[in-house]
Amino acid sequence: MDNAKNISESVIFPRGEKTPEAFAKYFIGTSYLNMVVPFDSPLKCPIGNVTFEPGCRNNWHKHPGGQILLVTGGRGWYQEEGKPAQELQPGDVVEIFPNVKHWHGATRDSWLVHLAVEADVSAGSAEWLEPVTDEEYDKLK
Ligand code: MN
Repeated sequence: MDNAKNISESVIFPRGEKTPEAFAKYFIGTSYLNMVVPFDSPLKCPIGNVTFEPGCRNNWHKHPGGQILLVTGGRGWYQEEGKPAQELQPGDVVEIFPNVKHWHGATRDSWLVHLAVEADVSAGSAEWLEPVTDEEYDKLK
């Protein structure tokens, strides 16, 4: 299955535009972001639909209020510091507790699409850390 077909079959929520530079600078590779619930929602629980191109991943980071990932398409990786990376597939749910250092992204040869639920966003915005190097990323199979 080629990547274009792969991604077209993965779209549930619209892909949106390329991730704004304010966030994209914390990613390696190209990603797209569609805020399906906006940052300024009074419910304080914004939800972004994030699409990672093959090879794209975000830097190591922490969420002061935690985060939930709901995988809707493609294939990817989630890794917490000190633990092996786990493969992500559609239907997977990842519960990330406050201030746990982690990263998420696509595999080398597939797109990944997930909803990112920013829990308790009033606790503060994400703390962005070092990139996931090619050396670390290329070890993942
Ligand atoms: Mn995260």
